[in-house]
Amino acid sequence: MLYTSTRDKSIRVTSAQAIARGISQDGGLFVPIEIPKISLDDIKRLVSCSYIQRAKEILSLYLTDFTSEELDYCLNGAYAKGNFSDEKVAPLHTLDESAEILELWKGPTCAFKDMALQLLPYLLTVASGKSAPDKEIVILVATSGDTGKAALEGFKDVAKTKILVFYPEEGVSPMQKLQMTTQEGENVSVCAIEGNFDDAQNGVKAIFTDKKIAEKLDSMGMMFSSANSINWGRLVPQIVYYVSAYCDMLEKGKIQLGDEINVVVPTGNFGNILAAYYAKEMGVPIKKLICASNANDVLTEFLKTGKYNKIRDFYTTISPSMDILISSNLERLLFLMNGMDDKLLCEWMKDLSDNGKYTVNSLVFDKIKNTFEAGCCDDVKTKQTIAQTFNQKDYLCDTHTGVAIAVYDDYVKTSDDKTPTVIASTANPYKFSSSVLDAIRPGMAKGMDEFDIVLGLHVETGVECPAQLANLKGKEPRFTKCCKKEDMESVVFQMLAK
Ligand SMILES: *Cc1c(COP(=O)(O)O)cnc(C)c1O
Repeated sequence: MLYTSTRDKSIRVTSAQAIARGISQDGGLFVPIEIPKISLDDIKRLVSCSYIQRAKEILSLYLTDFTSEELDYCLNGAYAKGNFSDEKVAPLHTLDESAEILELWKGPTCAFKDMALQLLPYLLTVASGKSAPDKEIVILVATSGDTGKAALEGFKDVAKTKILVFYPEEGVSPMQKLQMTTQEGENVSVCAIEGNFDDAQNGVKAIFTDKKIAEKLDSMGMMFSSANSINWGRLVPQIVYYVSAYCDMLEKGKIQLGDEINVVVPTGNFGNILAAYYAKEMGVPIKKLICASNANDVLTEFLKTGKYNKIRDFYTTISPSMDILISSNLERLLFLMNGMDDKLLCEWMKDLSDNGKYTVNSLVFDKIKNTFEAGCCDDVKTKQTIAQTFNQKDYLCDTHTGVAIAVYDDYVKTSDDKTPTVIASTANPYKFSSSVLDAIRPGMAKGMDEFDIVLGLHVETGVECPAQLANLKGKEPRFTKCCKKEDMESVVFQMLAK
């Protein structure tokens, strides 16, 4: 399987090269030139398989230049027993007769980013061993919260790699911040920036695509790579859990082989839901992909109208990992849907960077309408949904999952669509303790510090706080630096000089 760039379809690279480079030199994203298929018989066979076996089957279709032994090494390292707290890795929890929650946060940092970022360092070191064996890899990350910690944890002390994470100073939860600033490991650095997530992401993208910086790094025996969801190595592990969820729906007797399901995904950068789209295109019987946004509803508007417009107010919400106005992975969907027309895609992306907006043609918009539904919900409704879900269904969810459940409820009410549904749950509720406690016991969290809130949430709900979060109590931060967005480049070189 070869890969091309969304902004120059004459490009051909192997999966190892796509993963090692992260982003194409033309600024485009790597995509496989075709989507491999799986049959219902394949799916039936996977039902009795472990998560690692399911993952191997799917990954071997995309990463054809990895040997079977290399895939085993990567998958056994990432999803080994003990690394994820549930042996199913990404288990389903029954919410009610028609909806299952796909819990994607059983990994070491308690957010769904672990699903990909526990595997990526393995994929990347194998990939760079093939395509650039002498180079040290420098991972730059812009994070809205969860990616940063998951990437730090995945890459800490991995030989021949260094990692630097930028996060928006005011844009992450106290628990997320503490998780990052206390990170251990010799090859890690963390820096806050004055600005929001888009500032951090734009800064990192600019550093990545700057030829002079790349040359300087090359002369130092290093190369950049990306652990953001623009890296194909982030996306491909996420396809696996949608195939796996379908298998588990079969195993639980919720559906029969071939029955369609709907999938609801709380979305920010469009990576997670794009993985579900790939699963659908591969042949998993998925009817609708339902995109859930918070008050930053740029995607809801786009999927309903075909017009993308980032010129709008930016809101800091209680679901910060979705506080995003530029959804990078949407570019991949548009490229697939416009028949891989790189010129047209470049026009849209230029419109976006020059004018802050673009409108897709009717061909693409019709395809979008056939596949996607979209909805959004503000913080008040998110909190109501968290409380209702806890009180009526005895399930404590985080704020991002709360958005997804609210949008799902609305969709069912307005469409009367009774298709069995998988709702992606992207974080453990204790990562956002204060908002979750406030939803369940309004006002109670006021004036309490983060770990009193954790205790309060435990007392009120009986749900255990994962040890890796509880153990952060009293831990001294190692990284306290905050820089201006113009200074990101110099922070990178300061870190590399260490
Ligand atoms: C990253 C993240 C999201 C958004 O995922 P995308 O792939 O960017 O759409 C949602 N919820 C949580 C908790 C996250 O960490």
